[in-house]
Amino acid sequence: MIFNRQRDLVHILLNFASFFKHESCGVCTPCRAGNFILQRKLEKISHGLADRNDLEELRSWGTIMKATSRCGLGKTAPNALLQAVDKFGDYFATRLGTTTTGLYRAIDEHAAVADYERYKP
Ligand code: SF4
Repeated sequence: MIFNRQRDLVHILLNFASFFKHESCGVCTPCRAGNFILQRKLEKISHGLADRNDLEELRSWGTIMKATSRCGLGKTAPNALLQAVDKFGDYFATRLGTTTTGLYRAIDEHAAVADYERYKP
């Protein structure tokens, strides 16, 4: 795979997460649930809605998957993500939706209302 500076790292990682979630056979929980959670957390980052806890949970789930998945697919699925978070910590900090005070930088009012419309009884 060849990437240049114009590719969005989170989008690349989302592609990996989507692939591994699809390929997981689902026999063991760390891989089945972990790949799903990694994808959801990355979507949260891509929408600017993640905070530092989400980043820590990504690390934590990736570590659990590597240590406890039953086969090589689950053990290697979080590799790219874990290495990216370690090597590009500053980049991920800029992608978080919250400031150092814990407040969100912005909220998309239209998306929030659309969500309400979708789930209201
Ligand atoms: S780690 Fe292997 S056995 Fe476990 S759910 Fe993933 S693909 Fe299946």
